[in-house]
Amino acid sequence: MDSGTTARRLDGKAVAAEIRREVAEGCARLLKTRGVVPGLTVVLVGENPASQVYVRSKEKAAREAGMNSVALRLPATVSEDDLLATVKRLDEDRSVHGILVQLPLPDRIDDRRVIAAIAPDKDVDGFHPVNAGRLLTGLPGFVPCTPAGIVELLKRSGIELEGRRAVILGRSNIVGKPLAVLLLRENCTVTICHSRTRDLAAVAREADLLVAAIGRPAMVTGEFIKPGAVVVDVGIHSITDEAACRRIFGDDPERLRAVRERGSTLAGDVHPVEAAARASWLTPVPGGVGPLTIALLLRNTLEAARLVAGGPRG
Ligand code: NDP
Repeated sequence: MDSGTTARRLDGKAVAAEIRREVAEGCARLLKTRGVVPGLTVVLVGENPASQVYVRSKEKAAREAGMNSVALRLPATVSEDDLLATVKRLDEDRSVHGILVQLPLPDRIDDRRVIAAIAPDKDVDGFHPVNAGRLLTGLPGFVPCTPAGIVELLKRSGIELEGRRAVILGRSNIVGKPLAVLLLRENCTVTICHSRTRDLAAVAREADLLVAAIGRPAMVTGEFIKPGAVVVDVGIHSITDEAACRRIFGDDPERLRAVRERGSTLAGDVHPVEAAARASWLTPVPGGVGPLTIALLLRNTLEAARLVAGGPRG
């Protein structure tokens, strides 16, 4: 990997658009050959503002790809039993091929029970333990959308992975752990770090490919990055005050204007200015990993419909 002074942009938006076009073509083919329209139902509990935005984007993207897209909005007071009954009804509904329960759920609901209630072949988020097991053992199944999207972005951008040292910051079930398995599959040598890792920056500096999924705004500064490394920023944070904005983006006039006029701007887990000066490639926030998560959700939903309908794959 080259050592560069200004990182090249890993354009998640463009790659996501390409995948969404492929999915739309796949949907059109499935309709023509099997008369089937893929159906995605997203279940949203309560009124978490970020979740509402995500659900609206997923609903719209699915519709644009030619799917039947439904958002089921349940009150924050819904009981766990009622939510489980809703999931069971969707499991049995033959017109629903993909079910996604938007996380986080209210604290009093056990999200593991709810995820385990989704039929594994409709679990388009890839969070069901059966799909996690399939991923780990190399069987076909649904892969969580964010890590699958990261690998697509890297491969379609021509980044060589085989034999490279990958360091993943974060060990969640939805990003860090599944990404480690996917990168192993690509023959990377993988290290996973977390909040108890000693000398995090030194471990991160060993990476040819560094992925930050820790949920800490701009924590990954220049000292975490080996010159020439490829850096993928998974974090999404809304930055609302001007001082924080300056710490992260310096005097960038567009970012400052966004905070002053619209009240916020988005930042990731990586310090964008310091990373741009050391990395060879860097994902922007927004426009990096985020759009791929939705694109891969659509691809999983199309695959779920194909599983039921038969017909051409790919
Ligand atoms: P989690 O909170 O589930 O996991 C965070 C991980 O980071 C944990 O493993 C935690 O360690 C580790 N961590 C936290 N603080 C530190 C620290 N100071 N040093 C080292 N490790 C630390 O987060 P997610 O995986 O769900 O998400 C991570 C980020 O990615 C968030 O900003 C989230 O908003 C974003 N995200 C973006 C998506 C997208 O589409 N772009 C999709 C999903 C998430 P430990 O296990 O020890 O607690």
